[in-house]
Amino acid sequence: MLGLPGSGKGTQSEFISNKQNIPHISTGSLFRKADQDGTELGLVARQYTAKGELVPDEITIGIALERLDQDDCSQGFLLDGFPRNLAQAEALNQYAAARNKMIDHVIYIETDEALLLERLTGRRVCPACGKTFHLMNHPPQIDGQCDYCSAKLIQRADDSEETVKERLKVNRRLTDRLVEYYDSKSVLRTVSGSKEIHELSEDIAELLQRD
Ligand code: AMP
Repeated sequence: MLGLPGSGKGTQSEFISNKQNIPHISTGSLFRKADQDGTELGLVARQYTAKGELVPDEITIGIALERLDQDDCSQGFLLDGFPRNLAQAEALNQYAAARNKMIDHVIYIETDEALLLERLTGRRVCPACGKTFHLMNHPPQIDGQCDYCSAKLIQRADDSEETVKERLKVNRRLTDRLVEYYDSKSVLRTVSGSKEIHELSEDIAELLQRD
C-alpha cells in the first residue's frame, strides 16, 4: 500500500488483510511494538520515529524482510509503510525474486495534503492492540477508549502538528518516486483517498477482484 501518512493506508490495509486472509505487515507498527517491548531496536528506532524521520534503511529492511520470512507470510502478505524509498523497494524486489514471489498489486491512495493534516492530528491509536481511530471520521464508540480491547486511546508522538508537517514533506518526495517506480513495472493502481472509508474500501476490493 502506498500513500502519505494519514491517507487511510492503515485502515484499508486492515480491511484487505482480513478479507484476503493475509497478514498485515506495517514497519511503523513493528517499530512501535519494539519500542513498547523496550528492545534495543525499539530504542534506536525511537530516535527517528519521534521526530518523524525515516529509520535508516539497513535497520528497516532487516526487520521488514525478517518478518516476511515468518510462516504466516508463506501464502502472501500485505505491506503497509514499506517500502518507503527506492533502496527499500529494490531490496524487496530482490527478496521476492529470490523466493519466486511477486508483488502482485501496488495500491496508491492519492490524497490532498490539507486533508491529511486534519486527519493526522485527529488520529488516536490503541497502544495495546494497535487499532486506529479518528476523532471525527472514525470515532470509538466510547470516547477515548478502544472498541476492541477497551484500552485508553493515545495520540502518537509523531501525530503532533509540527511533526506531521515534517513527515508529510519527507514522505511526499519519496512516495512520488515509488509511484513512478511501480508504475513503470505496471503494477500500480491509483485510488482516490478523499472518499469515505467504506467507499474507498469497495473501490480497492473491486480493483483487486478485477486484476
Ligand atoms: P507509520 O506508522 O508507517 O506512519 O510509521 C511511523 C514511523 O516509523 C515513520 O515516521 C518512520 O519514522 C518509521 N518507519 C516506518 N516505516 C518505515 C520505513 N519503511 N522506512 C523508514 N522508516 C519507517
